[in-house]
Amino acid sequence: MISFEMTDEQREMRDVARKFTRNQIIPAASELDEKAEMPVNIINNAFKFGLWNLNLPEKYSGMGLDHLTEAILLEEIAYGCLGVCGAWAGNSLGLTPILLAGTEEQKDRWLYQFGKEPIFAAFCITEANAGSDVSAVRTQAKRVGDEYILNGVKHFITHGGIAQMHTVFARTGEPNSGTKGLSAFLVSKDAPGLSMGKLENKMGDRASHISEVIFEDVHVPVRDRLGNEGQGFKISMQTLDRTRMCIGAAAVGVARRAYEEALEYSKQRIQFGKPLFKQQAIAFMLADMATEIEAARGLVWHAAWRMDSGDADPKLGAMAKLYAADAAMKITVDALQIFGGYGYMKEYPMEKLMRDAKILQIYEGTQQIQRIVISSRITN
Ligand SMILES: Cc1cc2nc3c(=O)[nH]c(=O)nc-3n(C[C@H](O)[C@H](O)[C@H](O)COP(=O)(O)OP(=O)(O)OC[C@H]3O[C@@H](n4cnc5c(N)ncnc54)[C@H](O)[C@@H]3O)c2cc1C
Repeated sequence: MISFEMTDEQREMRDVARKFTRNQIIPAASELDEKAEMPVNIINNAFKFGLWNLNLPEKYSGMGLDHLTEAILLEEIAYGCLGVCGAWAGNSLGLTPILLAGTEEQKDRWLYQFGKEPIFAAFCITEANAGSDVSAVRTQAKRVGDEYILNGVKHFITHGGIAQMHTVFARTGEPNSGTKGLSAFLVSKDAPGLSMGKLENKMGDRASHISEVIFEDVHVPVRDRLGNEGQGFKISMQTLDRTRMCIGAAAVGVARRAYEEALEYSKQRIQFGKPLFKQQAIAFMLADMATEIEAARGLVWHAAWRMDSGDADPKLGAMAKLYAADAAMKITVDALQIFGGYGYMKEYPMEKLMRDAKILQIYEGTQQIQRIVISSRITN
């Protein structure tokens, strides 16, 4: 049976997240953005309120949410601030490889600590010359006895260098072995030889921590390899197939915030003797925004629902991310336009929403890469 109704439990959790966003995230967002600071207090409080570790199984004291409920909550958190939501999305991304490919022994050893305190996970694939093209990864993992020795530099890593668990994709095969030569490893921030490199100064999404991670002769025991040698690319793609929906959900949150702010402003701002809302050109912009938000949320929920039904369709996850991120970008630009000159000023939330929205079109696969994922699945 198909239903668009939330369960009572989902509605209750949505309301808790909405209240948390209103009380804790919205009042802090502007300062976090200005100072480019991670939302440490917010994360600590989320952990206390049971709003952290969304996709961590209950066995490890996580929330163990299904994908649909996770999407509902991420929309609420991103409504408050996309940069703050980056901590949630970064952890979901960092935890997914071990949830998909880890042995029970690996999960027991690595995941129990996430239930004890609010700590971070990171997903480390991007390098200076390996962005969209993962086959160009050069970080090396050389097998020596019952260890691998990792050397290389990862770029643009959410929670890079501060994560208790970095999932690192490195080359175990020959230099020209492409995607077949990649393997995945679990590495703690405390591993000797692992250090944080350049901390990025971003245009938006500023409350999230993005940095280089440097590996200099980092020794990783064989028991911390995820899956077999050569399975790294598959694990990374299976991870992104699942988590792209989360970026779609965050995009819906950003878009909804921009739309609601613009709607409210358009009711109050009087020009030519009537509220802006009564100008048909403005009313139609708002109508388009409302429509695109519904469509984007529908795609996100459909992708999540298919995953929860055990019939995941990677094409839908890519469509959800593609459509919702473009909708968020367009809606934040149009919503700022409705604010006129005021929208351009830092006193109003619009310029931050617009700066934040741009990253949704870039990370976890650019919009062009989503089209490659979708087209490869509709033409095969
Ligand atoms: C804030 C932020 C957080 C991030 N977090 C993480 C993280 O946690 N972990 C991680 O591993 N990475 C992370 N990244 C990296 C991110 O995933 C990459 O930036 C992204 O995949 C694009 O890679 P690139 O920047 O090297 O761009 P490039 O791959 O160089 O692409 C440049 C342009 O060319 C286009 N392009 C490339 N190839 C093709 C093609 N075949 N066809 C058509 N167009 C193409 C792209 O769409 C893009 O528009 C993050 C990046 C940012 C900015």
